[in-house]
Amino acid sequence: MESFELSYILNELGEHRENYFQAIAPPIVQTSNFAFATVEEMRRRFQDEFGGYIYSRGLNPTVDMLRKKLAALEQTEDALALNSGASAIFLSVFPFVKQGDHIVSVQQPYSWAQKLFNDVLPRFGVHTTYVDARQAETVNAAIQENTRIIYLESPNSWDFAIQDLRAIASLAKEKNILTVIDNSYSSPCFQKPAVFGIDLVLHSATKYISGHSDTVAGVLCGPHALIKQIFNLEYLTAGTGIQPFNAWMLLRGLRTLPARLERIEKTTRMLVDAMKHHPKVEQVLFPLDPDFPQYELARKQMSGACGLFSFVVRTSDPYRIEAFCNSLKHILMAVSWGGYESLIIPRMAGMTIEEFNPDDPVHRMVRMYVGLEDADYLLGDLMQAMEHL
Ligand SMILES: *Cc1c(COP(=O)(O)O)cnc(C)c1O
Repeated sequence: MESFELSYILNELGEHRENYFQAIAPPIVQTSNFAFATVEEMRRRFQDEFGGYIYSRGLNPTVDMLRKKLAALEQTEDALALNSGASAIFLSVFPFVKQGDHIVSVQQPYSWAQKLFNDVLPRFGVHTTYVDARQAETVNAAIQENTRIIYLESPNSWDFAIQDLRAIASLAKEKNILTVIDNSYSSPCFQKPAVFGIDLVLHSATKYISGHSDTVAGVLCGPHALIKQIFNLEYLTAGTGIQPFNAWMLLRGLRTLPARLERIEKTTRMLVDAMKHHPKVEQVLFPLDPDFPQYELARKQMSGACGLFSFVVRTSDPYRIEAFCNSLKHILMAVSWGGYESLIIPRMAGMTIEEFNPDDPVHRMVRMYVGLEDADYLLGDLMQAMEHL
């Protein structure tokens, strides 16, 4: 995307300043409902709620500004803004399956996608097969007569496993199967899956789009007909649309998205490089590192990489990994990512010390999110903490 076009989307698209005192920042239309002048007008609106304003569980002007920008960034026809990434996952799948249907999913998608596939959908007779989707052929082989959805997450946000989006979209189209991708890692700036033919693109907007660790939100982008179908039934039924104030927070976040990503990418590459050469580090996983196993595919699909990377440390002692994390002075230990603050999370936090197996590199994996702090401030902190390994 040309940077001229990007600036137009972020600054102007969907904004009509003449309607609100030429205010530079968009207004928060904090209303639950909208009035009609005549019964006839009301009747017409009731016939098509997706065509205008009735009630803010449906459409709202502040939310609409956001929807227009998100659709344009993802190069899709339309978008919905939701109150979490998890509800974007839910609405990308639930409307398109019925009793007896089958889903093919990437291995270990985001944890609450796994909950949906493992614990919610089986109650309705919908079953999921997980596949190592690094080869499109494996995905193809898992397709059954009743497969309705191929669910992707590329890259994965722990090991950055990547799927060939063009190849999978094309084999899915042949069989009339819906393709869905969680695009949170790349943000709409660094990867546009719809261009490769993927049908629905979702984000946890909590991460880069909000960008300040202060809002939980989600995004779902796709063709107008599919978005309208979701809106008219499951979106209004579940009532998980975003609130106007949170939509405004995302509009604010979007303005600086490219600038934040540019800085984060630069710092991340520097830290990845330093960690690769550290004697206590066995492996660094970062999709745009030339040593990454799927580097060539990453470069084909992604125009940049963000602030998440993982590294496997050399130690057989889990307490040393704990000591490393506990002794960080500036980098915070927390879930999530995408904000100003750099964060770290050791894989072993999700297991007991007894379960820790030093022969499994995954257990020795630590994920770092690089934020917007000064690079040397972060590097110094990492290096002093590495002394504890
Ligand atoms: C955080 C996250 C989600 C879930 O989003 P919420 O906004 O927390 O509901 C989904 N996918 C990925 C890759 C995430 O990192």
